[in-house]
Amino acid sequence: MKITEMFLTPNKYSRPGIKLDRVTKIAVHYVGNPKSTAKNNRDYFENLKNTHERYVSAHFIIGLEGEIIQCIPTDEWSYCTNQANGYSISIECCHPDNTGKFHKATEDSLAELCTYLCRKFGLSADDIIRHYDVTGKHCPLWYVSHPEDFMALKDKVRSALSVSSEAPKQKMYYVQVGAFGSKDNAEKFLQSVKKDYPEAFIKVI
Ligand SMILES: [Zn+2]
Repeated sequence: MKITEMFLTPNKYSRPGIKLDRVTKIAVHYVGNPKSTAKNNRDYFENLKNTHERYVSAHFIIGLEGEIIQCIPTDEWSYCTNQANGYSISIECCHPDNTGKFHKATEDSLAELCTYLCRKFGLSADDIIRHYDVTGKHCPLWYVSHPEDFMALKDKVRSALSVSSEAPKQKMYYVQVGAFGSKDNAEKFLQSVKKDYPEAFIKVI
């Protein structure tokens, strides 16, 4: 995963410099501006120091090709998730059209970035939230209209987190005593060997 740091100039509209001293959630958003790139959105945030249009920003923006731009260090506030700004890291995602559905490359980077942030802050996949979960705003639109896809994202992060990032994988040697095409038969056999080998278990390959 490659993160390109393009930090915003400190300014009260998009990078207020307020210390973020606890992170308990990762908030996912969609930019709401079809076809705009990560760089476009980053530049919009940057220009707020001149336009004074509104108070808005995000820690990270993921582009249509899956590229990741970081706009704000993770120990500072972003203006993205309303009342959750004081305890969350925000991620904006670009999308090609009005449905808000993300490209696969964008979604893959989102899963990777969420995994990285969960590890960094000691969080679990259940700490990944939608803007919608905080304010009821339909953001990110696709994950509000397709909650099953949001669940799938969290499942992907959950399984990535379950793989240890430390120490190179150690080889394990399993002793196999049977193989079955049917789960019921496997269960039956497991019960019969359990009395001699209480630690026996079923592994699906
Ligand atoms: Zn949002």
